[in-house]
Amino acid sequence: MTIPLSCEFFPPKSDDGAAKLRAITTELATALCPEYFSVTFGAGGSTQERSFATVSAIQLESGVPAAPHLSCIGSTRAGIAAILDQYQALGIKRIVALRGDLPSGMRDPGDFRYASELVAFIRQHSGDGFHIEVAAYPEFHPQSLNAKADLQHFKHKVDAGADGAITQYFYSIEAYSRFVDDCDKRQITIPIVPGIMPINNYTQLARFSDACGADLPRWLRKRLEAFGDDMDSLRAFGHEVVVNLTADLVRVGAPGLHFYTMNQAAPIIALCQDAGVHPA
Ligand code: FAD
Repeated sequence: MTIPLSCEFFPPKSDDGAAKLRAITTELATALCPEYFSVTFGAGGSTQERSFATVSAIQLESGVPAAPHLSCIGSTRAGIAAILDQYQALGIKRIVALRGDLPSGMRDPGDFRYASELVAFIRQHSGDGFHIEVAAYPEFHPQSLNAKADLQHFKHKVDAGADGAITQYFYSIEAYSRFVDDCDKRQITIPIVPGIMPINNYTQLARFSDACGADLPRWLRKRLEAFGDDMDSLRAFGHEVVVNLTADLVRVGAPGLHFYTMNQAAPIIALCQDAGVHPA
């Protein structure tokens, strides 16, 4: 099965972390030939310098195009324009445009309320200079009023100029398939690439899932809980679950696969090998 692949990283906090990430991106570039490597961005600009350094290193050294994430909450139009210009000067061609969540302690939401406003601003400021990805939520965003409103807000981002979407992670193939069907019915035709989160650490995954509204189905939570401190068995089981999910996503026609790497190469490479996935 050949399919476009992409991988997501967070910016490391130290020089040592940056050196390790270089080794990880090299390993993934060689094994998977990804379409792009994306780099997260702390809302309110909290990781701005580290994100830029990581994006630069990937863009200039890894042989794989970098796609910076850009979250707008807590930012000004002038600040976002300056970042876009910096990225354009670096030769960046793809941006992941997000609202982000206002960091605790920060009160001023700034000039943007929603990601759709950021997408419109990028188009206004940079024209077609960037391919714009946005976030999608097959299990719906935790702050949305209801499923219908969330889909309508997703459509706003597409109408504002998004070219593609990457989903929040999920472990229910049905949630993804129904979301894609619902989008089809609303004439949303951009590719909706599933985001895939490997299962390596239950405590961390449960914390993330509670924070971002991704559903850990009860059967999965219970199975993972039961492994306790037996990390090897947990990883083996988690690997099997995510291999099956990945193979199912390819089978139902996902237009690409985006991996939340947590800055690790080996679990992603094993996942692709065992799911029989090869880069397009
Ligand atoms: P939006 O699309 O603006 O939606 C946010 C909420 O507002 C939704 O509930 C939506 O239904 C609602 N809404 C939208 N428009 C309207 C409207 N006009 N009226 C009323 N309600 C509306 N966060 C980061 O800080 N940095 C990152 O690098 C990052 N990377 C991510 C990558 C991916 C692939 C994903 C899925 C998420 C990422 N996030 C990141 C998390 C994201 O910022 C949060 O989920 C955030 O809460 C919502 O961002 P959004 O871009 O989806 O917002």
